[in-house]
Amino acid sequence: MSKHQILLHEKIVVATKNVGKVKEFAHALQKLGKETLSLIDYPEIPDIVEDGDTFAANARIKAKTTGDALGVPVLADDSGLRVAALGGDPGVYSARYAGENAADSENNEKLVRELKRLFDEGGLEEMGQLADGSQLLSKAQFVCALALYDPASGSFIEAEGTVDGIITDHPHGDGGFGYDPLFWVPSLNRGMAEMTKEEKQQISHRGEALRKLLPLLEQA
Ligand code: IMP
Repeated sequence: MSKHQILLHEKIVVATKNVGKVKEFAHALQKLGKETLSLIDYPEIPDIVEDGDTFAANARIKAKTTGDALGVPVLADDSGLRVAALGGDPGVYSARYAGENAADSENNEKLVRELKRLFDEGGLEEMGQLADGSQLLSKAQFVCALALYDPASGSFIEAEGTVDGIITDHPHGDGGFGYDPLFWVPSLNRGMAEMTKEEKQQISHRGEALRKLLPLLEQA
């Protein structure tokens, strides 16, 4: 994709209906002077089957399906949580960990339930507690794969970002979305949901993937 093709578009379509993600992308892309549209603006696009077995494969599927349908360059993100004590689960199933169309609260409840069960059975490494008495349960990592697809050339530009943290047994903060309330960031001694959008963008998997992707656009 040439720099001019993407930079000539005033609007960038992001292939997601997740309001939390749309807010984070809009915040980052407005710095490029771009308006962010999302699948919420295109209800006629049917739900996309994300049957890839990696984050990168799912990001490509979402970007290509939407880009081919709309005929404009599309940015897609596939992201999720890898929990060490669960062998990397829920991974690509993060959005539907507690079942199809599960609410964030249901996914979070299931995650704490599974880890506490392992903890009570003595199957977890002792990680200590936070000052408020919350138990640290398992190392974890958020992963974000980004794919920008240009239907004119059929080409992709891709990048991936990660952030390390620890899952706690109690929520901290009410910002962010998804698993943020359970994700403690030891390097900052704060919960992900306690951060502002700017603070989260500076350290998050999505922020890192965007910082890697945007210069590739300029070079393309
Ligand atoms: P996707 O929409 O198929 O990429 O699913 C991503 C799922 O991973 C979301 O529904 C959240 O549960 C989780 N997730 C991804 N990014 C974040 C984040 O920044 N904070 C919290 N949860 C996230």
